[in-house]
Amino acid sequence: RPRVLSGIQPTAGSFHLGNYLGAVRQWVALQETHDAFYMVVDLHAITVPQDPAELRANTRLAAAQLLAAGLDPERCTLFVQSHVPEHAQLAWVMNCLTGFGEASRMTQFKDKSARHGAERTSVGLFTYPVLQVADILLYQANEVPVGEDQRQHIELTRDLAERFNGRYGETFTIPSAYILKETAKIYDLQDPTIKMSKSASTPKGLVNLLDEPKATAKKVKSAVTDTDTVVRFDPETKPGVSNLLTIYSTLTGTGVAELEEKYAGKGYGALKTDLAEVVVEFVTPFKEQTQQYLDDPETLDSILAKGAEKARTVAAETLSRAYERVGFLPAK
Ligand code: ATP
Ligand code: MG
Repeated sequence: RPRVLSGIQPTAGSFHLGNYLGAVRQWVALQETHDAFYMVVDLHAITVPQDPAELRANTRLAAAQLLAAGLDPERCTLFVQSHVPEHAQLAWVMNCLTGFGEASRMTQFKDKSARHGAERTSVGLFTYPVLQVADILLYQANEVPVGEDQRQHIELTRDLAERFNGRYGETFTIPSAYILKETAKIYDLQDPTIKMSKSASTPKGLVNLLDEPKATAKKVKSAVTDTDTVVRFDPETKPGVSNLLTIYSTLTGTGVAELEEKYAGKGYGALKTDLAEVVVEFVTPFKEQTQQYLDDPETLDSILAKGAEKARTVAAETLSRAYERVGFLPAK
């Protein structure tokens, strides 16, 4: 079986619709066909300041949401990144292989550091893509299911894997990004030119899966569209409507063309009202199931402990090969 690896940050508590449609939904599908490793990336979370108690709670909350979304611990390996120390260990090696200029070109870093300001930008935020490189290479992943915003980081992973292999001999599998075109980028409901994001979206533009369904319905109904009235998929000139059609289509399995036909002559109001209902029908059971996992923290923690054990077996083997290749003296 080919292998997949991906991760999600335990920041902000609730996942949003972009996380789900862009990434987690694919994770659920891929556990059927791939040897799948999925993790809650708490090491990545601390690249910006986190309250310790909140981080701990949000890590469990992220795992609960992944299970609620359909990850099955019998079919995939679900774990917490900090439970597998090899991530930080391999990251150091990869840091030493990365050019400063190369890391400086990462657009996520440029965006996030501009938002935080130079004083609040940590070196960790700067090297976070390199930690991600280590995350992926440790598992010899063939594919990495992510949203479009991660494409550049996967390119960096390929470059560094090739560099390492070229310098020290064949060690790492070269991974590919697994990005579904339709849902690669879900946009902010209030500003459909920017991606929906945990850290950059305003509350009105962000559909959090764990919000009160009523509030969510309201957000969908007040999504920004345009002054035209024709329901047509055209991301260039109608980004707002097109984003709503993408969300509607993927949550219901209805083709976009079929939706265009359904709303021909009906205008945006009807589309938004129906989509609000579709979203509520999705988030309501999701929220309930997440709560059920949270209500039983012992089971949740034992799932994560088993996942970490499985992950460590794979990660430790890769790390020891990489250490040997680099020339570290083995500890006797
Ligand atoms: P931040 O803005 O703080 O980076 P985020 O919203 O991007 O947070 P992450 O935990 O960084 O959330 O991302 C988890 C996964 O969700 C990644 O694979 C990412 O590519 C994907 N993703 C995030 N936002 C979107 C979006 N708007 N559309 C599609 N995929 C997305
Ligand atoms: Mg992100």
